[in-house]
Amino acid sequence: MSTAFSRPEVETLVRQVTLEYLARTRTKIAPALTVHSSARHMHLSREDLEALFGPGHELTADRPLFQEGNFAARETVTLVGPRSRLISNLRVLGPLRSKSQVELAYTDAISLGLDIPIRLSGDIAGTPGAFIMGPRGMIELKEGVIRAAIHVHMNPAEAAHFGVKQGDLMKLRVGGDAGVTFNRVHVRIDERSRLNVHMDTDEANACGLHLAKEIELTK
Ligand SMILES: [Zn+2]
Repeated sequence: MSTAFSRPEVETLVRQVTLEYLARTRTKIAPALTVHSSARHMHLSREDLEALFGPGHELTADRPLFQEGNFAARETVTLVGPRSRLISNLRVLGPLRSKSQVELAYTDAISLGLDIPIRLSGDIAGTPGAFIMGPRGMIELKEGVIRAAIHVHMNPAEAAHFGVKQGDLMKLRVGGDAGVTFNRVHVRIDERSRLNVHMDTDEANACGLHLAKEIELTK
């Protein structure tokens, strides 16, 4: 009995092996997706840091964040909104930035009586301001209180995998009992980024992120 394969059989086998290999390779390069919710927080400029915490003060890193170089600082401030409503223990995130910025969920803004727009981080022109109190001083932030737009960080290789470019919008489907699809997830590409969606606590609560079993990011 012959064990030799006929030519068509060999061709079929080779094709199957090639397809399986390609499938495995694709799976291997598919980047792992993580979704994190950001609680309300503040970014500070050098000038504002020193006004709040004293000259020469440096932020103390308390806990590293998923994106390399970013951290939750030990420092917190108090935000004073209109009609003297407060948010205390507002966490400062490092590193320092060129402009100070406060990121709140709508729930926070409503409790303060502030009408805040949805903006990408750093895009703060014309947004509401607030008074910020630190242990060594107080500043008036003329603008910079926003609800951060839901966004996905990725590096150029991950962007190529999804076929997206800077500023594109993607869809994030969060499955589960409170399943939600977010239709306007802003793409932010940077060499040092790791694939990671950032949403705020209102969005995370709405989609039951802590219970989600399936998460899918698509173009
Ligand atoms: Zn982010």
